Amino acid sequence: ANERWKSILHAGLRDQDAPTIFDRIIQRQIPSEIVMEDEHVLVFKDIHPQAPVHLLIIPKRRDGLTQLRYATADHQELLGKMFLTAARIAKEQNLRGYRLVINDGSEAQQSVFHLHMHLLAGRQMRWPPG
Ligand code: IMP
Repeated sequence: ANERWKSILHAGLRDQDAPTIFDRIIQRQIPSEIVMEDEHVLVFKDIHPQAPVHLLIIPKRRDGLTQLRYATADHQELLGKMFLTAARIAKEQNLRGYRLVINDGSEAQQSVFHLHMHLLAGRQMRWPPG
């Protein structure tokens, strides 16, 4: 129970939703391969990579963003930061092409309810996605 509270507090006071596995990653309670971190965002390798490069870019404070659909103007700066982080990593890693994906809702195959952007690269992508 104590750990759950810590996660909730970490996620921000506006966040009433259940913590996810990403809280445990943010708090280093479970191991992950972290690629980049700053005050606002954490970038780590997806545990089930769907491409040679498969990173997850997440806000460290979920702040109500279990899903993108709950974004408000208050989140504008954070959302911009996530995109800029993706573009910076792509440049640093000399990615020739890359794809950014946000799954919102179970119909879109969202499985972790803490906003995250997938950065996929390193192979020829297809369209439409499955
Ligand atoms: P979603 O399906 O868009 O919600 O993406 C969730 C992603 O999180 C999936 O690609 C999972 O493979 C990934 N994932 C789940 N648990 C872990 C973990 O413990 N470490 C790293 N990635 C994870």
